[in-house]
Amino acid sequence: MRTEPAAPLTQELPDEEDGPRPAFSGPSAEETLLRLARSARRLARAHQATVTLAPTASRPHGVSATSLSRAFEAWGGYSVPPLNPGASRPVLEGGAERPRGWLVVPLRTLEGHIHLFDPESGEDFTPEDEEALTGLAGLADVALETARLREENQALRQEVQLGEQRFQALAGASRQVVWLTDAHGAVNRPSSTWEDFTGQTREEYAGWGWMSAVHPDDHARVADVVRRTAAVLGPYECEYRLRRRDGTYMTALARALPVLNEDGTPREWVGMTVNLASVQVSEDELERRLREEHAARTEAEVAEQRSAFLAEASRVLASSSLDPKATLSTLAWLTVPTLADWCFVDVMDEAGAAQRMAVAHANAADKALACEVRDFPPGPDGSRHPTTCVVRRGESLLVDDVSDAWLRKVAVSDRHYALMKAVGFHCIMSVPLLARGRALGALTFLAVRQSRRYTQADLHTAQDLARRAALLLDNAILYREARKSVLLRDEFLSIASHELKTPLTPLQLRLQALRRETQKGAASIPTSLVVSQLDVVQRQVTKMSALVNGLLDVSRISSGRLTLDKEPLDLAELARDVVSRFSVTANQAGSPVTLYAQDDMRGSWDRLRVDQVLTNLLTNALKYGAGRPVAVRLSGDEVHVRIAVEDSGIGIAPEHLSRIFERFGRAVSERHYGGLGLGLYITRQIVESHGGEVLVHSTPGQGSRFEVVLPR
Ligand code: ADP
Repeated sequence: MRTEPAAPLTQELPDEEDGPRPAFSGPSAEETLLRLARSARRLARAHQATVTLAPTASRPHGVSATSLSRAFEAWGGYSVPPLNPGASRPVLEGGAERPRGWLVVPLRTLEGHIHLFDPESGEDFTPEDEEALTGLAGLADVALETARLREENQALRQEVQLGEQRFQALAGASRQVVWLTDAHGAVNRPSSTWEDFTGQTREEYAGWGWMSAVHPDDHARVADVVRRTAAVLGPYECEYRLRRRDGTYMTALARALPVLNEDGTPREWVGMTVNLASVQVSEDELERRLREEHAARTEAEVAEQRSAFLAEASRVLASSSLDPKATLSTLAWLTVPTLADWCFVDVMDEAGAAQRMAVAHANAADKALACEVRDFPPGPDGSRHPTTCVVRRGESLLVDDVSDAWLRKVAVSDRHYALMKAVGFHCIMSVPLLARGRALGALTFLAVRQSRRYTQADLHTAQDLARRAALLLDNAILYREARKSVLLRDEFLSIASHELKTPLTPLQLRLQALRRETQKGAASIPTSLVVSQLDVVQRQVTKMSALVNGLLDVSRISSGRLTLDKEPLDLAELARDVVSRFSVTANQAGSPVTLYAQDDMRGSWDRLRVDQVLTNLLTNALKYGAGRPVAVRLSGDEVHVRIAVEDSGIGIAPEHLSRIFERFGRAVSERHYGGLGLGLYITRQIVESHGGEVLVHSTPGQGSRFEVVLPR
């Protein structure tokens, strides 16, 4: 079926008599059209009436309404014409024109028509019908215009309603008190926020009732402000004390603006009341949060800088050579100005004295001062010098308000005090370079510029850096020691093989001589000859076994297998034996040995080991005694005995004194004096395992005095 009317009403509406219409809702344009069509059909007693309206901006497809008589409906087969005002003839199915009655009159003001088809009488429409229809068309204009106005009005009402709903939602969502008053300040609308805050009921705050929530002392002023503001049409702004629902008052600030009528007169006032204290608190809170955020951001930035700095420091340390001096200097320069204005690196030398390895400064103008600082060594052990204290205690130092009194307290001399003053630092941070439980030195940082302050976080960074630097230093020390050990071992091996070989040559010569005698075929070899050869053999074998025993002792000591077999012993007697054993050697060396012994030199010692101590000391005295007399003195008290072996020989240079008791430690050239450098090492181990000690006093070229103190 070709039934496509634009937006047609396909159903008959109920007659007005059918039931009451809802309030404020009159008929719409479509309903009005339909009523018109119905009225037109009834007026001219037609089977069909159609009212059409041309398309407009609000109805782009136009609109039409058709009313059919019941008989026509029952007959059916008739299509509703499409909405086209120019060609509004009814059409039958198949498109053929229907040659039945058709009357059309235009609407008067709107663009549209009323069509009538098929008079019920079967005759054509009469002029009276046309007249009636024209009259209806005039009325239709009025009805349609009314419907249009009503629709417009409804749209406006919806808009207003939406605005009201939005306002209520906004007021409800606000944490402040929102209110509305009439043009004079009397509340005429409910405010849930006012109720929540003041605890007043609607009835209580309606009109001027809201004033009873205002502090009585503020009434006059508030009323005055309301009056004056109303006179000039706002804005209204007034501070007063408002009672909360718990009965307490808070200082509130009320602000309002007028809503004006078209003529500029005030219609109502929209206002808001805020708790000034909460505004204040929020501002304080905001400031606190800002401060916190700023602090957090600064901290994060500082942390980032620190980790970048530590990463760079690690890179420098990792790429370092095994000579730490250059690396530590680079490191010191890396810390300025990131971490300090001045940075010192002090490292303990082998003798335990602090050496200033590096001095870095942020200000280029301090170059000359830096030279002085570098040349001025940290204080001697035991002094109050900050670095020395840090190394000695192995603990960090942080002073964030260096005072003159503090400088005076730590200064090791006037010069030191003057130098510290010249640098002019107000914060100091010194951290030990700790490795394997000992302090190898210290890193010291000074803050000169006032904006720099040292905190625990800085101290942690410094300690972190010191840990890494200490590792480097320790590696270098271990490497140095390992190299020294290797050199010593190589030296020892060459000396040992030389020493062991030395007795072999005379031994071999004597044995060859004896063999030659036996090959001569003589019946007998003279005893004196055999004895003298065997004497030499015996001496060389003794020498070799002494060397081998020494090596064995060292290995025993190293593996902790040196055990003592103590027994009651008379030291004087033992010393006499040893001295007499050396008589031949002493004669050969041209150094007579004299023994001086006090009475009662008894105690409990390991005989063989004490014999070994005396033997070693006497061997050395004769070896290095330059052919001069040697004295052995025994003395003691109730608790100790003292053995002193003195010679007037070559003596020992002071720088070698600490070394000669070490394994393979020697103070003479192997070309001039044979020996393995083990005698004194073994001596010290034996004495110490008895709970005693060995001391040496020596002057080069004048002789040496070795002293052994043993508990009885
Ligand atoms: P060795 O004598 O085999 O070298 P020692 O351990 O007995 O080894 O002595 C170590 C070093 O101490 C010697 O090489 C020598 O330099 C020095 N020394 C020991 N005793 C004396 C002494 N009485 N006079 C001078 N130097 C000595």
